[in-house]
This record gives sequence, structure tokens and C-alpha cells, in this order.
Amino acid sequence: MDSIFLSPPHMSGKEQQYIAEVFESNYIAPLGAFVDRFEQMVCNHTGVPYALATNTATAALHLALRVLGIGEGDTVLASSFTFIGSVNAILYQKANPVFIDSDESWNVSPELLREAIARSSKKPKALIVTHLYGQMAKMDEIIEICHEADIYVIEDAAESLGATLYGKQSATFGDMGVFSFNGNKILTTSGGGMLVSGNEEWIEKAKFLATQAKDDAPWYEHTTYGYNYRMSNVLAAIGVAQMEVLAERVARRRTIFQHYQSALGTYGEVVFMPEIENGRGNRWLTTLTLAKTDPMKVMDALSVHNIESRPLWKPMHLQPLFADADAVVDGTSQRLFETGLCLPSGSNMSDEDVDRVVDIVKKVLG
Ligand SMILES: *Cc1c(COP(=O)(O)O)cnc(C)c1O
Repeated sequence: MDSIFLSPPHMSGKEQQYIAEVFESNYIAPLGAFVDRFEQMVCNHTGVPYALATNTATAALHLALRVLGIGEGDTVLASSFTFIGSVNAILYQKANPVFIDSDESWNVSPELLREAIARSSKKPKALIVTHLYGQMAKMDEIIEICHEADIYVIEDAAESLGATLYGKQSATFGDMGVFSFNGNKILTTSGGGMLVSGNEEWIEKAKFLATQAKDDAPWYEHTTYGYNYRMSNVLAAIGVAQMEVLAERVARRRTIFQHYQSALGTYGEVVFMPEIENGRGNRWLTTLTLAKTDPMKVMDALSVHNIESRPLWKPMHLQPLFADADAVVDGTSQRLFETGLCLPSGSNMSDEDVDRVVDIVKKVLG
């Protein structure tokens, strides 16, 4: 039997044609027309005015913190239930993370966010909020709370390209947002990211920092330090081809989720990650928790059949790296982590593949 991966790349078929155009133009480097086109497509699709293509979403988050003036000793609030790439940049800037637990949405709890702000001895400068597994966080409440407290909101939309709340796209609610085009995301350029914002100056500043912070002079003049964080034109060509099929990819992932839900939702112990009211996730990964069965047993059974599955992200406040960091938690994300798993969800999975997974899961559940 063929292997089934968690979320493998799914090419549209146009990628090689666009890469050939890059080679014909010889704009292998430096940047080039496909980078502009890719940024424009993300703007058009999401409705955000400005975008900057980067080599990773982690880099885009780092740029966001730099641009917003977050540095040594500053407090940055963040989702605890997320992937490390979401919060590494806080450490790059020598700022102090304060992790916030999830509520029943699996994303940041507005109530605990309020508590974290009230308890903080130093006014937090920003919040990094993740839309986990492509499902929207409660952005209306979160924005209101942060607005009142004068805290910047950075959306980690690495997993949620194409997800909406009230029809508005993820990454367009906060001050800045990031998307990832890493290998297993809903779209991939093999590796890549995008920083987006409604503030043109911030995106210009980020572009300056992302290209070694070269001042406007005939020679290489530097008054501050920057990074080499831009995306290559070759990878942007892949991105353009991928953006053309985003709507189809979201639709397919949602169909795969529904397939799992109708096959496994009848088991009393199975609870799928919810979708918040007025939210429409991209269902990047189908994720669920099990009330009785050890999820490791399910993962092991799938693995025997060359099917890849994964535990849920281990919350940041439980990571040894953050043993000394502050956290406002009530056990929710820990419970999700201990009882949950991610099922294979690639948009190129066939219905037969989904059935294969379902049959094995059913056997373990009994
Ligand atoms: C993948 C991911 C990132 C990091 O993206 P890269 O492009 O690999 O740097 C950040 N946050 C979340 C939630 C992710 O899933």
C-alpha cells in the first residue's frame, strides 16, 4: 500500500511553466516580477493592501516585531497552543513571552487574555495570536481587548490562509499578519512566508530590514542592522501557481474534514476541532480529541500501514525552553494536547485514502 502523508505538497501543474518563465528572463536573482505578482495575488485574495514575500513565516514574524519596535525586556503575549515558529521571534528580540491558554475554540481565550493583561506588571506591547489548524480565533473580541489596552495584534495565519471570520480573511484583522508557504501548509513554495499589513510604512520598513538594511546612498551605507529574509523569484513563481488554486484547496480540505466527521463523528468519544460562529476555517488539518482511547494507539496503528499522523502541538508553556516564562493557563491546551491527534489531510488525498484512514481508526476505537 502507498504511504499517506499528513499534508504533502499539492502542485497545480502550472508551477514548472512559471519557473521556465523565470529561467527565460534570467531573473533567478535578485528579486523579479514573480515576487511582485505573488504579493499582489495575496493582497487581492485576502483584501490586505500591502504584502512582503519572505523566505519563511518565522522571518516575517521577526520583521513584524522589529517594525513594531519590540525589543529587549518587552512583554509579548502569545497563544500557548501553537507551533514554535510562532514565538521564536520573541526570543530573537530578547523580549519576554507570556503564554495564554485556549478556550473551547482551541484558540486564545479572550477571558484569559484579559487576565494576562490585568496581571502583567509591565504593559504588554503586542499579542501574537495563532489561527490554529486553519481555524479562526475569536478576532472580534481579541481585537477589542487589545485595542482598549493599546496592544498591537500580530496574526499568525501560517496555517490559515483562506480562512475567514464574517467573510473577512485571516491576517487582515490585526496590525500585521503572516502566512507560511512551508512544505506542508495548505499552499507551498517549498519554503516561504508573507508579511501583510494595512500600514504601508510598516511594510516598507520591513522590506528595508529584510534586505540588509541598506540606506539610500551610492555605496553600501548602514545605520542599523537588517536580515537577508526575502523570497527568491523562483519560489515566488511556484507561489503564483499555488495561489491560483487556493479556493479549490480550501474546498477540498473542508470536504476531507466532512468525510472524517461523518465517518467518525458517530463515536461518542470523538470530538473534532470546532469552527467558531461566523468562522469558516480552511481545515488545513483535520484534528480531533479522544475521550477514552490513547491517541498514540491510533497513531501507531496508522503508522503500521504507512500512514502519517501526528499529536497536536505541544503547548509552549509546557516546553522546557519556556520553563521560566509567564503563562496564564487553565489546563485547556494541555488536555487537548494529551488527548488529540491530527489525521492526514492533504488536498491531494483521494476519497479511498480517507476511507483507508477511517477504517484503521475505527478498528482502534472498537
Ligand atoms: C508553520 C508555522 C510557522 C512557521 O512557518 P515557516 O514558514 O516554516 O517559518 C509559524 N507558526 C505556525 C502556527 C505554523 O504552523
